[in-house]
Amino acid sequence: MADEKSLHQKLTEISGNLWWSWQPEISETFRQIDPARWSELMHNPVLLLKEYNADRLEERATEMVLHSKIHAAYRRWNEYMDSKDTWGQTHADVLGYKPVAYFSAEFGIHESLPIYSGGLGVLAGDHLKSASDLGIPLVAIGLFYKEGYFSQRIDENGWQQETYNENVIADLPIRPATGKDGKQIEVSVETRSGAIFARVWNVQVGRIPLYLLDTNVEKNSEEIRSLTSRLYGGDHRTRIRQEAVLGIGGVRVLDALGIEPSVIHMNEGHSAFAALDIIRHKMHDDGLSFHDALRETAAMSVFTTHTPVPAGHDRFDGGILNEHVGPLGDQLGLNHEGLMGLGRVNPQDHGESFCMTVLAFKLSRHANAVSNLHGVVSRRMWSNLWPWQAEDELPIGHITNGIHVGTWLASQMRAIYDRVLPEKWSLRTGEPEIWQKVEDVSPSELWETHQTLKHRLIVYARTRLTKQAKRRGASAEVIAQLSKVLDPFALTVGFARRFAPYKRADLFMRDMETLAELITNSKRPIQFVFAGKSHPADDHGKAIAQRIYKLTQQEPFKGRVVFLEDYDINLGRHLVQGVDVWLNNPRRPLEASGTSGQKVVLNGVLNCSILDGWWAEAFDGKNGFAIGSGRTHVNSDVQDDRDAKNLVQVLTNEVIPLYYDRDHDDLPQEWIRRMKRGVRTLGWRFNADRMVMDYVKNTYVPAAGGLSCEMP
Ligand SMILES: *Cc1c(COP(=O)(O)O)cnc(C)c1O
Repeated sequence: MADEKSLHQKLTEISGNLWWSWQPEISETFRQIDPARWSELMHNPVLLLKEYNADRLEERATEMVLHSKIHAAYRRWNEYMDSKDTWGQTHADVLGYKPVAYFSAEFGIHESLPIYSGGLGVLAGDHLKSASDLGIPLVAIGLFYKEGYFSQRIDENGWQQETYNENVIADLPIRPATGKDGKQIEVSVETRSGAIFARVWNVQVGRIPLYLLDTNVEKNSEEIRSLTSRLYGGDHRTRIRQEAVLGIGGVRVLDALGIEPSVIHMNEGHSAFAALDIIRHKMHDDGLSFHDALRETAAMSVFTTHTPVPAGHDRFDGGILNEHVGPLGDQLGLNHEGLMGLGRVNPQDHGESFCMTVLAFKLSRHANAVSNLHGVVSRRMWSNLWPWQAEDELPIGHITNGIHVGTWLASQMRAIYDRVLPEKWSLRTGEPEIWQKVEDVSPSELWETHQTLKHRLIVYARTRLTKQAKRRGASAEVIAQLSKVLDPFALTVGFARRFAPYKRADLFMRDMETLAELITNSKRPIQFVFAGKSHPADDHGKAIAQRIYKLTQQEPFKGRVVFLEDYDINLGRHLVQGVDVWLNNPRRPLEASGTSGQKVVLNGVLNCSILDGWWAEAFDGKNGFAIGSGRTHVNSDVQDDRDAKNLVQVLTNEVIPLYYDRDHDDLPQEWIRRMKRGVRTLGWRFNADRMVMDYVKNTYVPAAGGLSCEMP
């Protein structure tokens, strides 16, 4: 037919929108075109299609019988983008055509676009994907980091080495964001030391447009050109400049696009200057006084705080603030003290620095923490902001984080759910009734599927370890051993997250004698897979990684404790789908929510965690395991000791016996019951559809109502 597009055209269209990244069948199709190149190219279809021109692709598709798969994918893609029948259509219509503007310093959408460092970014990526699936009118604002976050290598001494790779625009699904004149949008932020210019790129995440600001333009000085090169690099000056570009520049991007947001959502305090620039708009366009403009801005602003550690909140001194935000303060009619006061708990305290979190709280009427416990901690932490109010009445609520099911669920598990759950279950993941049917899955089928995924992980881990060892110049003998590490039949514990010290990756090493016993037990062995990056400036975190790395090189732990370099979304997906137990042992209450444990649930993996973050509200006694009983201690050494003992106890008395308690078919029936219970009791609550629906109902819709829901 004349209107029929070629396979190459269809796949090119699909690869121009990151929607494909949460469609496992489409990833699988890309993989089948060229499995070796697919993995070498970081699962980047734009690059793959550069290597396969139309003819070569036709040939390959014929060979691999991919024609109908590609046509079907293209059809589904168009249906998805055209569909009007969404949850958002019925529940978020008050937002109308004025979208929510969602600001975040990082977005973790797919491994091929490395502009994220960890949980905050992945959460933002999952938020966009669910907003797209649900049909919520939302646009996102972030920064384009040319060098992204770093790639991690561990050297022969176990010390982390960082390398930076360039994100090449032409190799990614990134295009210029254009204004009415058809030219790429450029915005500027004036500072006392000159203007900062930024051009704007667009990435499509399903139905959601993401706009990324990039200061790498000729008009800027060399120093400013590299301002957005790296995520969380540089000093305070880099930091405030990045935040000014994100917040103030971000609002100007919306303006240049002709988008008038109904709500602004600041994901963490980094973007809080956005609200200041909205105030300027309201004063200028609507002739409001500063105070009236502030009140209207706060009414439409949502702020999510993520950090229960005081040191984790950005603070700037007066000089740096004045240099970068002073010009905006002038336009708002604020003198220096007036501007500083917006970022101080006590505006009159001249000794207090300017805190982005305080600014965000003062400029938003809808503030939330990211788990129930984090809500309690945040209200206590910020009670001085509202000294006249009782702690439990402070205006900080909570919306517990969740993960995007389509991104993290193994396709083998999805196939089971497709068969046993009600039709269209994937559009209704937030409903508890949907998940009850998991009880009908036969224990042997569930176990077989889990074993398949575990084997896949072990093969993958061996391949990666071999590559790591070769690069380090290991001997042939050492490399040969690596093809046998990890026992597919041993209880396998996974631990992967940023190596921030409070996450205590090395807690399991406090009692080495017992650890050695558990690992070498010939009947009931246990083994560990670790991964995680430390911030480049965090030597304490690097030392923790080093301790674990050294353990992996040492008998009797060799081959039973492994460390996989360069934790990213891709490695994360393998881990959360393939281990038996997901270990999480932060120093309570420092894990605001944690999300990696949520990714394992629907894959039938059991959580074993300190009662912190989301797990404190999720654990019901039988849907996983708890380490300790949620106690804390003013002395962190005492707390660490106690938690380490509790960890050994729960492994020895609960996890290991339950895993190895087999029936005559070698099935761990009680364990499988827990897997199902996890799916049934946790699946519907800790997913991003439920989270985004909560944001819509509890914050976006009220915020879009603006003044109408305010006190006179
Ligand atoms: C999910 C995820 C995280 C966050 O994990 P936490 O358990 O919240 O620390 C960090 N990095 C990557 C790559 C992830 O996928």
